[in-house]
Amino acid sequence: MLPGATLGVLGGGQLGAMFAAAARRMGYRVEAVVEHADCPAARHCDRIHVGLLDDVEGLVALGTRFAAVTYEFENVPVAAARALDRVVPVRPGPEVLHTTQDRGREKAFLVRHGLPCAPHAVVRSRDDLVAAVGHTGLPAVLKTSASGYDGKGQRRIDSLAEIDAAWGALGPEELVLEGWIPFAGELSVVAARGLDGATCCWEPSLNLHRHHILDLSTAPAALPAAVIAEARRMAIAVLDALDVVGVSCVEFFVTTDGELLVNEIAPRPHNSGHLTIEAAVTSQFEQQVRAVCGLPLGSTRQIAPAAMANLLGDCWERGEPDWGAALGVEGVSLHLYGKSAPRPGRKMGHLTAVAATVDEARAAALHARRLLSRHAVG
Ligand code: AMP
Repeated sequence: MLPGATLGVLGGGQLGAMFAAAARRMGYRVEAVVEHADCPAARHCDRIHVGLLDDVEGLVALGTRFAAVTYEFENVPVAAARALDRVVPVRPGPEVLHTTQDRGREKAFLVRHGLPCAPHAVVRSRDDLVAAVGHTGLPAVLKTSASGYDGKGQRRIDSLAEIDAAWGALGPEELVLEGWIPFAGELSVVAARGLDGATCCWEPSLNLHRHHILDLSTAPAALPAAVIAEARRMAIAVLDALDVVGVSCVEFFVTTDGELLVNEIAPRPHNSGHLTIEAAVTSQFEQQVRAVCGLPLGSTRQIAPAAMANLLGDCWERGEPDWGAALGVEGVSLHLYGKSAPRPGRKMGHLTAVAATVDEARAAALHARRLLSRHAVG
C-alpha cells in the first residue's frame, strides 16, 4: 500500500489525529470513522464518517474505500472489526483487539505466554470477590474487565469491610481483582511489528501518573541496563505472541527489587510514545503508517533525551494558558489537539522537551507547564 492509497482509522481522538497527520505527510489519504464531527482527527483527515462504529453493515460498506484500516482506541467492537477485516485488512488484527480489550482475557494471555503480571482473579459475583481477595491479599484493586481507561472503572480495596461497597460500585459486570503492587516505578515500551514479522522498539520511558492519568513520561529511563533489556524483550514477546501488525505499548510495573510485571497492553500508539515525534528518528505515528501499509519499519533510535508533560483541561482553570511563556522555554514543543471544552481531567494536549540530559528535559517540560497557568491570560 503505497502513498496515494486511502487509509481508514476508527476513532477520532488525538491518536487518530496524529496518525492522520503522519500519514498525510507521507502522501496517503486518510478517512476517519468518528463519534462526533467536532473531534481532533477531523482537522487532519481528508474526510470523516460520523456515527458508524456500531453499525457493522455500514462499516463494511465503507471498508471497500480503504486499502487498510487501523484504530486509535481498543474498544472498537470486535464483531465490527472482524466483519471489516473480511473486506479490508484491519491492522493490528481483530484478534489482537479481542485479547486486549478485556482485562481477564489479557491476563490469561500473559499467563499462557509466561509473562509475569500482578496476582489476579476474575470476579463475576460477590462470593468470587471474597475468594479473590483471599488469593491476591490486600490492598488490591478491583477493575472492570471491559472499557476501562485512565483509571475509570477502578476501585482500591484496603480492608475486608470495603468489599461490599466495591462490589456495589462496579458489579455485577465482569471484573478483575489485582493485588496492589507497591511499585518503584512504571515503565512502558512502545514497540512495532511489521507485516513481515520484523520488530523494533523505542527507548522505554518512565511514566508518572496523577489520579490514574499519565502526567509525565521521560526517556531514556534511568534504570539498570538489564531491566531495560528485559522490558524490551518482553514487549517484543507480547507483539510476537499477539501477531501484531502495527504499533503497541506494553506498560510495566517495576517492583522495588527490579522485577517487571506487565500491567497493560495497548494495541495502538500510546501517550507515553508522544515524545518520539521530536525525540526519535521515526515517530510512533509514522511507524504505525509504515507497519499498517506493509512498508519497512523506520529507525526507532532516540536522537535526544526527552520528556513529555500532558496538558489536561485543568490548565485552563485560570483562563487561557500563556502559550508564549511555555514556548519561550528552550527545547519545548507544543501539541494541542483542538478539543473545544477544556474539562478537568481531559487530555487537551502535551508539551515535549528535548535537552542534553533527561533531567534537563524533565525540568524544561515541567517549567514550561508551570508557566502556562502561572501567567494564564483572561
Ligand atoms: P490501569 O488503567 O490499569 O493501567 O491503571 C492506571 C494506573 O493505576 C496505573 O498506571 C497505576 O499507576 C495504578 N494501578 C493500577 N493497577 C495497579 C496495581 N495493581 N498496583 C498498583 N498500582 C496500580
